[in-house]
Amino acid sequence: MDARAQADAILDAVDKSGRLYRDSIPMIASENIISPLVAKAVNSDLHGRYAEGLPGKRYYQGCDDFDTIENIGIESAKRVFNCQFANIQSISGTVSNMAALKALAKPGDTITAVSTADGGHISHARMGAVGVRGLNVVTYPWDEERMEPDIDAACEIIRQTKPEIALFGQSVFLFPTPLQEIADAAHEVGAKVMYDGAHVLGLIAGGQFQDPLREGADVMTGSSHKTFPGSQGGFMLSNSDDEKFQRKLNNSIFPGTCSSYHLHHVAGKAVALAEFEAFGVDYARDIIANAKALGTALAEEGFDVIAEDRGYTASHQILTRHGGIDSGAGLRAAATLEDAGIITNMNMLPGDTKAMTGPSGLRLGVPELTRVGMGTDEMKDVARFFARALIAAEDPASVKKDVADFKSNYQTVKYCFEEGPAYPNLD
Ligand SMILES: *Cc1c(COP(=O)(O)O)cnc(C)c1O
Repeated sequence: MDARAQADAILDAVDKSGRLYRDSIPMIASENIISPLVAKAVNSDLHGRYAEGLPGKRYYQGCDDFDTIENIGIESAKRVFNCQFANIQSISGTVSNMAALKALAKPGDTITAVSTADGGHISHARMGAVGVRGLNVVTYPWDEERMEPDIDAACEIIRQTKPEIALFGQSVFLFPTPLQEIADAAHEVGAKVMYDGAHVLGLIAGGQFQDPLREGADVMTGSSHKTFPGSQGGFMLSNSDDEKFQRKLNNSIFPGTCSSYHLHHVAGKAVALAEFEAFGVDYARDIIANAKALGTALAEEGFDVIAEDRGYTASHQILTRHGGIDSGAGLRAAATLEDAGIITNMNMLPGDTKAMTGPSGLRLGVPELTRVGMGTDEMKDVARFFARALIAAEDPASVKKDVADFKSNYQTVKYCFEEGPAYPNLD
């Protein structure tokens, strides 16, 4: 392939990927789409610019306009998350975590966290950011019935371990963490409480999930592009008014873990924050209503939905079981659904041990479906497509045609100032 053909092949695939999502039912729980105004900020000259430091304290000239952007964004983040401190520079949730781990602990220290098998994120583990920082990790015992840390056992672990950081939050996140109960035990032994809200920041900001900064969290980190519907990046938030602590948090982002911090994404986050101030409560409420409705509809179609006793979910996610422990049934279900035009991911369920071949479940998210205007009635239609593909075992190609027809009615981004194409710039 000559060089020009390579570039064309890439741009063709970019287009094809866009059409795939436009014509399908995208249900990856961490994913979302951005509004037209956020896209405008992202696709701007800011892409190539640098502004190390903080507003008003820069190392380069030419930053006055960007100072305006970042200042508005910081103040908006403080309102949206109801807190005294916000840093909106981090380029991802993982970088926010690396920065917080740097601010709150030093190499050789110990932290407590949710294990990856129970839904903790890879950045909470030795093979991720925790290991990069040279920290030891002790995991909480897990309550498989309630799908949350076992409160008494977690308090016990914290009292024994005396960690520097007690870290909470997951990537598989059905129910709020019982943070208040456990944070007291952590503070008793001098630990800082860190809450990783990567998946659920949009629900928290909308006041619909839990309120970690008032339930004992000293620092809250997270991604800006999952349930929070902004451009790619991260947030670092705290309700501390201690200037020394705030300086430490800012320094952990720059110079700690970022140099260029993707100014176009910061502008996108700031626009998304403004839109969230106007539409966020409705958006978060509708997402959770849809997730609950999808759980009910899938159960009615005959699927085994996890946590039936707790109403399936209190977040944007639900989990389904498709076979026995380590059966790999989730892997096969995800592949069949993809052929039928439904994009999901396999997920380990309690007991599963093999992450690549063994998962018996699926993790399903509804943020993107909600954002293109689907409501609780449409969740029944979605469940029907699942049943046709996985229970009736209909030819996936014929399901896929009907999925594309259905999806053609949901092509506009909602919950934003200027509604527009959800999947723009496609040939
Ligand atoms: C997704 C996720 C992250 C990482 O966020 P990125 O923005 O993808 O780097 C961190 N923590 C949790 C709990 C997550 O789910």
